[in-house]
Amino acid sequence: MTNFCGARVNTIPPFDLSEQFKTIGSEINQAVLDVLASGRYIGGAAIENFEQQLAAYVGVAECVTCNSGTDALYLALRALNIGAGDEVITTPFTFVATGETVSQAGATPVFVDIDPQTFNLDLDRVVAAITPQTKAIIPVHLFGQPVDMTRLMTIAHAHNLAVIEDCAQATGAEWAGRKVGSMGQIGCFSFYPTKNLGACGDGGAVTTHDPAIAATLRMLRDHGRRSGYYHEAFGVNSRLDAVQAVILQIKLRYLDGWNEQRRQVADRYHQLLSPLPHLTLPQSPKGGKGVWNQYTLRVQDPAQVGKRDRLRAQLQDKGVNSMIYYPLPLHLQPIYQSLGYRPGQLPEADRASREVLSLPMFPELSPEQQDQVVYTLKDCLAIS
Ligand SMILES: *Cc1c(COP(=O)(O)O)cnc(C)c1O
Repeated sequence: MTNFCGARVNTIPPFDLSEQFKTIGSEINQAVLDVLASGRYIGGAAIENFEQQLAAYVGVAECVTCNSGTDALYLALRALNIGAGDEVITTPFTFVATGETVSQAGATPVFVDIDPQTFNLDLDRVVAAITPQTKAIIPVHLFGQPVDMTRLMTIAHAHNLAVIEDCAQATGAEWAGRKVGSMGQIGCFSFYPTKNLGACGDGGAVTTHDPAIAATLRMLRDHGRRSGYYHEAFGVNSRLDAVQAVILQIKLRYLDGWNEQRRQVADRYHQLLSPLPHLTLPQSPKGGKGVWNQYTLRVQDPAQVGKRDRLRAQLQDKGVNSMIYYPLPLHLQPIYQSLGYRPGQLPEADRASREVLSLPMFPELSPEQQDQVVYTLKDCLAIS
C-alpha cells in the first residue's frame, strides 16, 4: 500500500484487538489456564465474582450475566412482562437486536426519529409517540454517547413506563455523574469483542436495582426454573461461561483507562479534523461523559449523490478502513415491512444512514496511525 506521496504505509483497521492482547495477554493466559485446570466451566465463583464486580462498577445492586447483549435485551423485556399487545418505543438507528428482541418478546417496536446532533432518540418525539399500549422505552446509548437520562426518566415516570437502557456500546459512560445501566429499571450490556468491555467471544449482562427483577432474570436465563427440574416459565438457556467471566474480570480493571484513551483519540480527531468542510464531527453531549465506542462523523450530502460511499471507497483504496453504522435504519428493514413505515417518515434516521462514517477507533490507535487516517481523509476529500 502506498500513500499519495508514494510512501509505503500500513493499512489501518477500524479496530484492532491484537494490540490490546499484547498488553494483557499474559494475565489472560494465566486466568484461562486456571479455569481449564479447575474443571468448573459453567457457573460457579468466576461468574458470581464478575457479576458482583460489574454491579459495583455500574452502581447497582444486581447483575445477571447471560450469553449476549441480544439475550440481555430479550431477558429484560420478558422480566418486565412485556409481550403481545404492548408497544415499546425505541430508536430505528441502532443495531438490529434492539428492535428484534422487542418483536421476539411478542411486543411491537415503535420507532421514533433521532436527534441529529447525538444520533440518539429525540426525546420530544418520544413523548408524542406514547399511547395507552406503550409499556416501555428502550434508549440506546449509541456509539458510547449517553442519552439524557434525567429527562428520559422524567418522561417515563410521568407516563408510568419502564425504561430498559441498551448500554451495549457504552459500558462506563455516564449521565449527570451516574453510569449508564443504573438509571432505568434495567440496563443491558454486551461483551461482544468490539464493545468497550469485550470478551474473547460472546457475553452479556443485565443490571438492575431491583432484587425481584434480578431473580426473575435468573429464572428466565435458566430454562424458566428457580431450582431443580420445575419450570414455571418458557425461558432460555443463556449463560456466560467461566472462561469469559475471568477474562472480563481482568478487562474490567482496565476499562476506565481504555475509555480515557478513547476520549484522547476522539479529542485528537476533533482537533485535526475541525477545519474541514463537508464534515460534521461528533461530540459528547453536555452533561454526559461518553466512551467513544465509535468516532462517527457525517459526510454532508444534501444533494444525495452518494458522497459518503465514494469517500469510504477512496479511503479503503488508500489503506484506511472505515465502517458504516448503520446503512439501513430498522424501520426500513425487510423484517419490519409489515409495520408500514415509509422512507422519509423518520427523516433524521434516514439522513444519518446516508451520511455516517465511523473512523478507526480503539484505545491503542497510535498518533501516527491517526495522522495517517487524517491526511488520507483530507486527500480524499480534496479529490471527491
Ligand atoms: C452489539 C449490540 C447489541 C447486541 O449485543 P450482542 O452481544 O452482539 O448480542 C445490542 N444493541 C446494540 C446497540 C449493540 O451495539
